[in-house]
Amino acid sequence: MKTYISLWPTHAPELPFPRSLAILGSTGSIGVSALSVVAQHPALFRVAALTGGKNAARLAEQAAAFLPGVLAVLDEAAAAKLKGLLPAGYAPEILVGPSAFEDVAAMAGVDLVLSAIVGAAGFLPTLAAAKAGKRIALANKESLVLGGRLIRNACRASGAVILPVDSEHNALFQALCGHNGDEDLARLILTASGGPFHGRDAAFLAAVTPAQALKHPNWSMGAKISIDSATLMNKGLEVIEACHLYGLPVSRVDVLVHPQSIVHSLVEYVDGSQLAHLGVPDMRIPIAHSLCFPRRVALAMPRLDLANAPNLTFEAPDEILFPCLGLAKAAFAASHSHPVALNAANEVAVDLFLKGRIRFLDIPRLIEAALARHAALPEHCGAAELINADADTRRETLAAAD
Ligand code: NAD
Ligand code: MG
Repeated sequence: MKTYISLWPTHAPELPFPRSLAILGSTGSIGVSALSVVAQHPALFRVAALTGGKNAARLAEQAAAFLPGVLAVLDEAAAAKLKGLLPAGYAPEILVGPSAFEDVAAMAGVDLVLSAIVGAAGFLPTLAAAKAGKRIALANKESLVLGGRLIRNACRASGAVILPVDSEHNALFQALCGHNGDEDLARLILTASGGPFHGRDAAFLAAVTPAQALKHPNWSMGAKISIDSATLMNKGLEVIEACHLYGLPVSRVDVLVHPQSIVHSLVEYVDGSQLAHLGVPDMRIPIAHSLCFPRRVALAMPRLDLANAPNLTFEAPDEILFPCLGLAKAAFAASHSHPVALNAANEVAVDLFLKGRIRFLDIPRLIEAALARHAALPEHCGAAELINADADTRRETLAAAD
């Protein structure tokens, strides 16, 4: 039997409960939601490891509640603070530094890794989990944007499998399950809320502040992805993510703006049938699905009530006003390393915008310039070359912004 789900082979092994879980980025928005799912179903999981960047206080609270044997943070200052905050009598191993996240991802005894670090920093840990043959619940879309080919190859070699946490890709996964034969699939349709500036004009966009851009109408998320939602770069990264997950060219992944965020994405088959996934916009649904698959678990939250829901509307995205979507599609079509430049320039530009150093409309300008400068790397280059290209683009984008 063929499957559309290139990273979920039909022969994937069963994973018994309780599952031994490592959460990379547990102190972030996805990490906190994941631990709330775990807290609702404690019999299904053993929390083996938690990691945070610099937020020692939140990591200490989480560690005290779930008592994992291993914790990891980004630097010595965070490690020292963390040690001081842990309850007496509890002495987990504390790992420090960027490579610690790769060690946690590949840890013996862990069978399920939730990859929820933000940005390119999630790439090497995700690759490490893939090489180590883990089941990966993947929130960190940037790792597929950077090195989707390497991660796919590592999964194939090790037997690792990826379950998408990103709500659209999780919706697609659910609508693809049980369907045979690549020839039946016509296209994937990713829905997009349109972000906080949906329907606004160029003059409005020119003057928006970080505070306005951070205010997403439907989802509560970390700062970086909230800005990506406002520029539509989030949808651009998600088109690339879908191409890697489901083995398709960009021409077969479309985007539909759906401001109510109730239909999370659709799969269209050759007979014209479109299968959609609907639900309230709450990341605990796709997180629970990916952590427990194939089992479904009850979640304490309001249910979707279509009789009392707003009218559902759909429209084509405005790619002129929001050029980031088109830039991402062009980058994926250009070469396998252009998405590295796209992502790195975007991370720098978002950071500069959040710090008030550039304007909202400078974000796509800086990314477009970075793509124009980027020379494609050889097709079979490794992770080190991709990381170098990422670093080069960051340096050049910072210089271009001055
Ligand atoms: P966030 O900013 O809230 O949290 C990020 C986490 O990563 C934190 O634990 C932080 O401490 C850690 N971190 C940051 N920099 C790090 C570094 N250099 N090294 C190690 N750890 C580091 O982000 P988020 O909104 O939870 O998003 C996480 C990932 O999930 C992103 O890739 C995002 O695109 C994806 N995602 C998020 C949502 C959402 O609703 N938040 C939805 C879909 C996908
Ligand atoms: Mg998404």
